[in-house]
Parts: sequence; C-alpha cells; structure tokens
Amino acid sequence: MRVFHVASEAVPYVKTGGLGDVMGSLPAALRSLGVDSLLVVPFYDKIVPSTSGFEKVRSGSLTMGGRVLPYTVLRHDCVYFVSQPELYGRDSVYSTREGDYPDNWLRFAFFARAALETIAALGGADVIHVHDWQAALLPVYLRTVMPERTEKTLLTIHNIAYQGIFPASVLADIQLPESVFTIHGLEFYGKLNYLKGGIVWSDEISTVSPTYAHEILTPELGFRLNGILEVRREHLTGILNGIDYSYWDPATDAALPFLYSASSLEGKERNKQHVLQEAGITSHPDFPLFAVISRLVSQKGIDLMLGAWDEMMALPLNLIVLGTGDPGIEAALQEKASQYPDRFVLNRRFDEGLAHRLYAGSDFFLMPSRFEPCGLSQMIALRYGSVPVVRRTGGLKDTIQDVHPKTGVGNGISFDEATPSSFLDAVKRAVQLYATPDAYRRVQAIGATCDYSWQASARDYLALYQSMSEGDQ
Ligand code: ADP
Repeated sequence: MRVFHVASEAVPYVKTGGLGDVMGSLPAALRSLGVDSLLVVPFYDKIVPSTSGFEKVRSGSLTMGGRVLPYTVLRHDCVYFVSQPELYGRDSVYSTREGDYPDNWLRFAFFARAALETIAALGGADVIHVHDWQAALLPVYLRTVMPERTEKTLLTIHNIAYQGIFPASVLADIQLPESVFTIHGLEFYGKLNYLKGGIVWSDEISTVSPTYAHEILTPELGFRLNGILEVRREHLTGILNGIDYSYWDPATDAALPFLYSASSLEGKERNKQHVLQEAGITSHPDFPLFAVISRLVSQKGIDLMLGAWDEMMALPLNLIVLGTGDPGIEAALQEKASQYPDRFVLNRRFDEGLAHRLYAGSDFFLMPSRFEPCGLSQMIALRYGSVPVVRRTGGLKDTIQDVHPKTGVGNGISFDEATPSSFLDAVKRAVQLYATPDAYRRVQAIGATCDYSWQASARDYLALYQSMSEGDQ
C-alpha cells in the first residue's frame, strides 16, 4: 500500500497549528503499520530550517496566474517539497498581520497541481490523501485533467471553517475547465470554493473526530458546506487524531527543566514553580495554575473567558496565556494583563519551548472552544498531567469525560453552553477540585492512563485506504 499525503504544513519543518502536528505523526504511524507513506508539502524557504540533505529529485513548470512558473522538487527523508520561491519564499505560511496573502488562490492551486504531477512522476500511489483546503484541488485536477489515472483520493477536513474561497475570476488562471464551475462543483455563492471541490471530487471524505463528522452536517457547524456534505454523507467518516507519544512525553521532553512521568507526578510541581518564576507570578504560587495555549481566534472561545473575566480572577487562581491570532482578541487580553500583573501573564507569540513548559507546569488547561474538530492540546495536557477544562464540542466531547459528581471519575471538566456563566461554573468546579488534593490527583491519574497515541487512529486510516483500493476490484 503506497499513500501520498499532501498538506500545507508538517512537523518538524513547518507548523502553525494542529495540522502540522498531525502531518508530523500520521505518516510515520502508518509507516509502522507497513504502509509506504510519503508526504508532499510546499518548501517555505524562509521558514524551513536550513537542514542539509535536501536532495533535488525533479523539476517542472506550470502555467498559472498568467505566467509560466517553474518549480523544483526536493526530498528529505519521506517528505517531498515543492519549491517555488516566488510563491512560498515568504515570512509566514498563510498570512501577515494585515491578513491573508492575496495570492493564496494561486499558491495552493499551484501546490495541488505540482504535487499531483510529482506523485505521477514518482510512480503514482494507491491512495492520495489530501488535507484541508490547501490541498483540496488535487482530486479536482486528478479527475478532470488526468482522468486516466487510477489513484483513489481521500480528503481529510481538519477544520471546515477554513475553505479557500476566492473570486470566480481566478478559475481561468488555475488550469481548470469552466465546466467545474457549477452548483454541483466548485461554485459557492458565486465564488470558487476549493474545499468544496475536494468534497465533490474525492472518493472518500474524513474528518478528525466522530462527533465533528456529525456536527459538520448541521447548519450551525457546517459553515454552508453541510448541504454538499449531506449529498456525500455515505462517504464521510470521523477518525480521531492522536498525538506523538514519543515527542510529547514529560519523562524525556528536552524542553522541560524537570522531567517526570505520568505515573509519578512529583517533578510536575517543580516545573510549575519554574514556569511561575519565569512568568514573574510570585505572589500566590500555591494557587492552581491555569494555562491557555492556543491560536487566539473566535473558534477557541476566548471571548467566553473575557466575558467572565472579573468573576474568574476573583477566584484563587493564576493564569498564563500563550498565543497569537486575532488582533482584537490579543488587544482585549493585553488590556486585562495590566489589571492583574501578579496573577495573569499573556505571551503573544508562537513558542514551542514555552508551550511544553506550560503543559508541564500548569494544573489545568483551558479550552472553551466554540467548536473543535478534534483538538490536540487537550490530549497533550492529559499526557502532562494538566487537567483539561473544555467545552463539550467536537473532539473535546470525544476525548474528555466530565468528572462525575458522585464517583469522582473522569479525566477533566466540561461544560455545554457557550456562555460566560457556563464557562465560569466550570472554572469554579476546577478550583474546588484542586482544593481536594486526593480528588484532583485521581482525575490527573485517570488522564494519564488515557491513550490518545496514533496507533489506533492509524489502523483506522489503513482500513479505510484498504476499503478504497479494494472498491475497484
Ligand atoms: P488548532 O489546530 O485548531 O490550532 P489543536 O489543539 O489541534 O488546535 O493544535 C494546536 C497545536 O498548536 C498544539 O500542539 C499547541 O500546543 C500548538 N500551539 C498553539 N498555539 C501555540 C503557541 N502560541 N506557541 C506554541 N504552540 C502553540
């Protein structure tokens, strides 16, 4: 079984969020099951660390955006990189502070097409597994421009809120026939929608948790693609993501000042004191430490926290936020930082090392998401003994079981309503739990026994690939 993954980011080369993590672990987990699992990503010259050992494997050119654009393909381990400096040699992956790059329509049409040509040139595959809107045009090119090819395609939707919607006028510039621009094709309220193309032309569609697979069929969480997904419902499944248990391991994590193991959490307290010192939170080191590590966008429900702010800060707790994103949300948090300098610290940056120290040093991990396709952060938090406090949606619902009020059994605290008062109740319950050390430790220990490694999920993907390639015979 040979599978090519096609995605816009992959750890350890480039990551802006969970997609990068998944692409760093899933292909490898499949390899351990005997799959010849390869990956194609863009070569972001300015971002990919200058690792030596990139080998040039081929070159080509595509006429797109009204000009001939040459590209080269580099290989490093099992990853093939599409290099086109004009398109990918930028300071960031998708956007700047001013907004998305205006030529993203070209950057990711080009990427999908160049990835397809590369896979064909390298001898093809049984399955081409494309991820999110940035790769979603690949199945469209495959079926319309290269109909003779036999590869099956799987589209995984990691977050349906991001669809790649562009003016219809760009169609003429991305080498697709006009016939794809219909209501049953790429057309979307008069514009082009790349993710919709993937939904229509892929053989199978998956998303990253069973609950989210149901939720995206509803008008509330389908982001106007629920109708077309309904048409393809028979081909839609939910497979939960996992995390890389060798990378995210407090017993070996090189980013931690103090190592500890999930079964013996003593070293965790030392990490907590370290991270509090680092943040300059010294007045109440005995309070439970809550952490947020997140893209600061409306999806993540930070507004629920802001709406409950004063009541929350009236509780005995400390809070550290690490994140970047929406300037409005960043500014609102920044304003709060000046009000509670000794108990709340905001770090407005992407910082992998601090993220590790915070997972290790925090007692609770806050994730009040309005929607959450899968969520990896709560799985990492469980592994590091930080009890998740989450809204019951998507993958959070599938991974976090609320502590039962009578038995005390559960691996976290969850709440239903997307309101500041429900959020606040959950935080109050967390603070109360912390006040009873035995009860708190029990929840922590249950969390440590949860297994959200990739093994089970990779087996589910393999079964899906097998059913797809057998479909023909
Ligand atoms: P999403 O993919 O929606 O961003 P996930 O929970 O699936 O959310 O994955 C988020 C990943 O990105 C986690 O590995 C988390 O630790 C990491 N992350 C998010 N923001 C930051 C940040 N500012 N610095 C370091 N890591 C971050």
